Amino acid sequence: MAAKFRKIGVLTSGGDSPGMNAAVRAVAREALSHGVEVMGIYGGYRGMIYDEMIELTSREVSNKITLGGTFLYSDRCLEFKEEEGMRKAIETLKRHEIDGVVAIGGDGTFRGATDLSARGIPTIGIPGTIDNDITATDNTIGFDTAMQTVLECVDRLRDTCESHARCNVVEVMGRGAGDIALNTAIACGAVAAIIPEVEFDEKACIERIIKLRREGKRNFIVIVSEGVSGYSEDFAKKINNITKELAENENNDRMWVETKFVRLAHVVRGGSPTLSDRLLATKMGVRAVDELLAGNSDLVVCEKAGEIVTVEIAYSQVLDRMYKGTLKDGMLDRFSPEQVEEMRRLIEEKKQYFKDTYTMMERISG
Ligand code: ADP
Repeated sequence: MAAKFRKIGVLTSGGDSPGMNAAVRAVAREALSHGVEVMGIYGGYRGMIYDEMIELTSREVSNKITLGGTFLYSDRCLEFKEEEGMRKAIETLKRHEIDGVVAIGGDGTFRGATDLSARGIPTIGIPGTIDNDITATDNTIGFDTAMQTVLECVDRLRDTCESHARCNVVEVMGRGAGDIALNTAIACGAVAAIIPEVEFDEKACIERIIKLRREGKRNFIVIVSEGVSGYSEDFAKKINNITKELAENENNDRMWVETKFVRLAHVVRGGSPTLSDRLLATKMGVRAVDELLAGNSDLVVCEKAGEIVTVEIAYSQVLDRMYKGTLKDGMLDRFSPEQVEEMRRLIEEKKQYFKDTYTMMERISG
């Protein structure tokens, strides 16, 4: 174990997610167990620039594991992207004799972590985001809780849909990623999911709703990912208007599937983390500290097939770009042909998973 670590910092940055507190607690407790002091940095990278931090003793992190949000607060700090902001941040860390940092957040947070690592402050990233949009890890902290919250909300909506023979189009979070929408659509027994990863056949969906209504189905839930921007409200109106017209033409009130639109929005970001998220946060927090103390840097902690592993932040970021189709010239140059091959395979697997899961959902919805 590298003896130089006397003190580390931990922060939460970008969009918050349930389980961030559990991760901070694990980071603090693991570091303290190795005789390393811990500073909690407030408001993400902003706290580094403006020297806002608190010593995290074992008691300071007690009673935090159950809490949603982040007691270290989070912020989007643009100043940190500038050279001057970065310089101030490093000065603060030096003044406090902080030898390493654990940064909990998403993609942007990891870019900051890489900048710190490059300037001589070893930094390890932990994926904390409800969107599950970090391709290198199977699960991000907060994803499970967010899905559980969607499930609870939609189950309630379903009850009232059943009473009144209505449809609810429910928009869920997931910036550019349909993970929350697809999984919750399956678990809520939705009639359809609309996600950015798979092409949506609007006409077929409305025809299916009409067919099912004729057969006597009363509750209709459609889950839409916010990644399919600006679509949900229009689609709700369309189902409503088309079925209303049909009911009028057939002179049969029962064919009108009155359709309401619901945006769950930030409701899904709060709440006490689920068991899975607390476990994941704890394992990742412990691993991040162990990596720092072993002398490693510029890594992101991931979960792959149930194992906690690490990958280089650069690898994780290129993988995400490859997935989104936003790779730029030269970005693959630093990786070996084997690594590039592995990335391509992972992307193919993920895309195939979405297609297969989507068609499975369609087969069993009814
Ligand atoms: P997330 O981490 O959830 O993706 P953001 O993209 O808002 O959220 O990033 C969180 C914070 O990380 C930003 O407010 C900023 O302080 C820092 N950050 C983002 N991008 C960079 C970058 N290119 N260089 C340095 N810091 C960055």
